[in-house]
Amino acid sequence: MAQTGVEPLFPEGHPLTAGLTETQREGLSRLASNKNILRMRLRDLSGRVVWSADDSGMNATPEDEAIEAATGGPVAVLTRLNADANDDGPTGVQAVEVYRALEAGDPGRRIGVLEIYLPYAPINQEVSVGLHTLYRDLGVGLGALYLTLLVISISMSRGLRQEVKFNAFLAEHDHLTDLPNRTLFHRRAATALKKARRGQPVAIAIIDLDRFKDVNDTLGHHNGDRLLTELARRLDVNTRPEDTVARLGGDEFGVILTGATDPEEALWRLREIIDREVEVSGLPLSLESSVGYVVAPEDGNNVDDLLQRADVAMYVAKGAHSGVVRYDAEQDDYDAAKLGLIAELRQAIDAGQLVLHYQPKAAIADGKVEAVEALVRWEHPVRGLVYPDSFIPVAEQTDLIDKLTDWVLARALDDIKATSGRYAGLAVAVNVSARSLSKRDFAGRVQAALEEAGVPPTRLIIEITETALIADPERAGSALAELDGAGVRVSIDDFGQGQTSLGYLSNLPVHELKIDKSFVFDMLSNPAHAAIVRSIVDLGHNLQLRVVAEGVETDDVLGGLRETGCDVAQGYLLARPMGFLALQAWLAERTRARRQGGKPARRRPVTAKRKVPVG
Ligand code: C2E
Ligand code: MG
Ligand code: MG
Repeated sequence: MAQTGVEPLFPEGHPLTAGLTETQREGLSRLASNKNILRMRLRDLSGRVVWSADDSGMNATPEDEAIEAATGGPVAVLTRLNADANDDGPTGVQAVEVYRALEAGDPGRRIGVLEIYLPYAPINQEVSVGLHTLYRDLGVGLGALYLTLLVISISMSRGLRQEVKFNAFLAEHDHLTDLPNRTLFHRRAATALKKARRGQPVAIAIIDLDRFKDVNDTLGHHNGDRLLTELARRLDVNTRPEDTVARLGGDEFGVILTGATDPEEALWRLREIIDREVEVSGLPLSLESSVGYVVAPEDGNNVDDLLQRADVAMYVAKGAHSGVVRYDAEQDDYDAAKLGLIAELRQAIDAGQLVLHYQPKAAIADGKVEAVEALVRWEHPVRGLVYPDSFIPVAEQTDLIDKLTDWVLARALDDIKATSGRYAGLAVAVNVSARSLSKRDFAGRVQAALEEAGVPPTRLIIEITETALIADPERAGSALAELDGAGVRVSIDDFGQGQTSLGYLSNLPVHELKIDKSFVFDMLSNPAHAAIVRSIVDLGHNLQLRVVAEGVETDDVLGGLRETGCDVAQGYLLARPMGFLALQAWLAERTRARRQGGKPARRRPVTAKRKVPVG
């Protein structure tokens, strides 16, 4: 309004103190007649009123706001009409009072100040309408936000709840078969035991598949898994909902039968169901199982005891191939000790409690030491030195024997490597159990051990007992062929104990026969044993094999063996098994004595002790 209405009335740009022409006054009055303007005045630069549409304020003292606007920017105040101290008349409606400097002339300069009052009501109304809309939009927005968050939080908490449920399921179930795992089985057994104490008998059984390892080894883990899944399903559908079937690990299942009047019969039935043929990758398979069970509370009053006893019964069933066996305290002493021994042995290997003793094998013709046999011993922290007869047969019942074989191989190869400087031709013989030999990867593991130790294969002899060969001739044959291919020599230990068919023997890639010591000990006093020794020597030579006699304790026996033409002798006469340090000293002394052409002094070995029975 100042720019378009008022300033054009003062083209010359004279200050308003100079007074106003009539034309100017008329122009101003026209402007002031606009109904949106409550009051309009013109002031000079000192703030005094020079023109007023309603003649008000003509002689009043200048307003501060007017003086401020004269030199500065526009000033606007929310007030009421006639509210200023120097206004006359009654206070009027709410208004916005605006002061603005007027500029005119060329070049433009300030000539005075325009003062107008605008009614506040329409502005107020517009503001409230704006605020209203703002509040409404804000409300709608917040509502929508709230709803969105609500939906998100509901779906997230549902997802979380499902995840929690899923995790709880995973923690207590077997991933392969979805059956309860050992944790849940234990908990259910505890609940069942409480019921048993209230008079409802409970049977807890452990079912272990026989020869499942063979399935895994021959058909692969994938097929082993399929077989387990199918057996798990059968067990599950053939028990009542109140019973529990769990997978306790590997090929072991647990069953809790509540309130069964004849658990033995029920378990025989389950065993028979497991027995039935399963088709895996097109092959019809059937697996037998061994079942051990306990009845609570008669056989035990806490879950740990009960489960351990069911385990003992299962081992008894497995050992005797007797199917289903209930726990019997009389069998327990031995079996519990055995179970304990397995656990202890596992830790002993890691804790470095096993040691190897070495027993030399020497050529009978010239006394040259050709090899040393590694014989494992357990330096038990409480029982002292434990001999292999006390723990190897137990270890052979589980895969622990593989861990042991690997350890012995690695240790023996490291030791033989350490003798390379002076005895580069010396070989080391390692005993291998049937169970380890039957593993598909056995030959590969031997080769890896040789590479790891940096020992040529010609310095290793693998000793396998004759009985191990008969247990699984086909598998043993292919393992031996692989070893032979790799350049490792194979010796058949304890020969004469088993009944190897001669045809089979002639086709095996073996290099040595070791006559069992039971025939050697008394060959001079027992003509039958002497005949056996002679026959084995002849047989071996006819098959181009070297023949070793073990258990040579006296010079007379050595003489007898020389007469038969036996190639190598091993036994207390030459040396008892001894620790590696003692072996090195023994070898050095023997070399020295042989150089001097004399007979080496027969030393009592430092390490040989009486056998300590285990248990
Ligand atoms: P083996 O392989 O036939 O070993 C010969 C056993 O006869 C050794 O018993 C040895 O100390 C003993 N012996 C040697 N010379 C004489 C002798 O002149 N007279 C008498 N009476 N005995 C003699 P050891 O060390 O107690 O080993 C027993 C068996 O344990 C071994 O029979 C072998 O089958 C097994 N074994 C030993 N170490 C290992 C091993 O690292 N792994 C496996 N799988 N089996 C092993
Ligand atoms: Mg041996
Ligand atoms: Mg032997």
